[in-house]
Amino acid sequence: MRILITGGAGFIGSHLCDYLVARGHDVIAMDNLITGNPDNIAHLIGNPRFRFIQHDVTNYIYVEGPLDAVMHLASLPSPVDYVNLPIQTLKVGALGTHKALGLAKAKGATFLLASTSEVYGDPLVHPQPEEYWGNVNPIGLRGVYDESKRFAEAMTMAYHRYHGVDTRIVRIFNTYGPRMRLNDGRVVPSLVSQALRGEPLTVHGDGMQTRSFCYVSDLVEGIVALLFSKEVNPVNLGNPDEHTILEFAQIINELTGNKAGIVFTEGRPEDPRQRRPDITRARTLLGWEPKVGLREGLTQTIAWFKERLARP
Ligand code: UDP
Repeated sequence: MRILITGGAGFIGSHLCDYLVARGHDVIAMDNLITGNPDNIAHLIGNPRFRFIQHDVTNYIYVEGPLDAVMHLASLPSPVDYVNLPIQTLKVGALGTHKALGLAKAKGATFLLASTSEVYGDPLVHPQPEEYWGNVNPIGLRGVYDESKRFAEAMTMAYHRYHGVDTRIVRIFNTYGPRMRLNDGRVVPSLVSQALRGEPLTVHGDGMQTRSFCYVSDLVEGIVALLFSKEVNPVNLGNPDEHTILEFAQIINELTGNKAGIVFTEGRPEDPRQRRPDITRARTLLGWEPKVGLREGLTQTIAWFKERLARP
């Protein structure tokens, strides 16, 4: 297949490029490099199955030749980024999705939207099944991200229903692994780099808020399984192994041997209190199940960050 991946130089996008190129597909990665990093795809440059196009997908997307799939991963998924870059966050979720859908329609390609657990907002239902409609404040600091993704899902379904485009929606829960940006402000890069520098880990609020962390290789397998399925309805992908952020910080200190402990810092506004995917649909429809445990995945991630931090 010939596949376009928007956000292809990003964290998840670049792992997806690797996975698909390794399985014999032709991959075009598109990225404006606002938060994507050319280092993530440097090893693919020169591979005849791979091409990189630097482009901002909020503008008209032109790609020469046929496409079998358009996978729209371009996004600013870090809460720190979407507070600092609120307009770009809204634009890539809304206008970028519209452009990517238009391209898929023109090429007769399958369209896959990378959506998010943030569509559930600060959830009142736990764990979160796909049927839950969410609890989102449209004008809150997270609204720019959450609402753009909710709009993106609505737009995707409209292209499916009105134009007959073959579409998929994956709701991605917290994912971690090598190639996360050191300074993206999310909990894994923040705490792991603090631990490796021997600093105390900054836990926001009381640390009792929960998250469930999925290792990136598991997620990529799930996304590809969904692409090759026939499922049009949204599918949650994530690891249901739920921890408080305090527990999570303690595990990172243990695995890195960091003796500097933990400091509690001011809580983030509207930080969701709990999050865990109900993955029954992915299990049943895709036969998908995360395989990499938290300690195993963190050990690999820590090794990668260690090597990164040691670079000049
Ligand atoms: N968090 C933290 N310390 C940090 C960074 C994040 O305690 O240095 C918390 C954050 O407040 C949230 C959780 O970790 O409760 C996950 O945050 P992240 O930014 O990774 O993404 P989110 O799941 O909120 O989108």
